[in-house]
Amino acid sequence: MVDDLYQETILDHSKRPRNHHSMEDANRKAEGYNPLCGDKLRLYLKIDDDIVQDASFEGSGCAISTASASLMTDSLKGKTREEALKLMEKFHDLLTTDTPASRDLGKLVVFCGVRDYPARVKCATLAWHTLKSALSNTGEPVTTE
Ligand code: ZN
Repeated sequence: MVDDLYQETILDHSKRPRNHHSMEDANRKAEGYNPLCGDKLRLYLKIDDDIVQDASFEGSGCAISTASASLMTDSLKGKTREEALKLMEKFHDLLTTDTPASRDLGKLVVFCGVRDYPARVKCATLAWHTLKSALSNTGEPVTTE
C-alpha cells in the first residue's frame, strides 16, 4: 500500500516536474550526467545569505531521475548550504543502507524502494551529485561514474 503511494508520487513528479525551468538570476549552476541511463540535468540555484532562495532544473532523463530532481528542488528551498548537504547525506543513506528513513527527509522517502534496484540508484542520486557540485561551485560537469 505504502509502496503504491510512493510510486504514485514518483510518477506524478516525473510527469509534471516542479521547478522545471531555467533561472536567469541563478548564482550557482551545475550539470550532471548519468551515462548508465542517459539522464542529463542542469541545476540552477539562487543562494543569498547562505540560504537556498530558489532552485530549478532542466534536462531529460528517466522517470526516477526527473522525479528526484523535482522533489529535491522542492526540498531545498529555504535550506542553508549545510542543511542541504546534510539532506544529501540522508538521502544517500536512504538509498544505500537499511537504516530507517530519517524524518527530515519528508517526501523524499518515496525513493526508499529504489534501494532494491541498484542500477536505478544512480538515477535517483544524479540530482544530488549535481547539487554537491553546484554548492562547491567547482563548475565541473559531474557524472555518476
Ligand atoms: Zn535514469
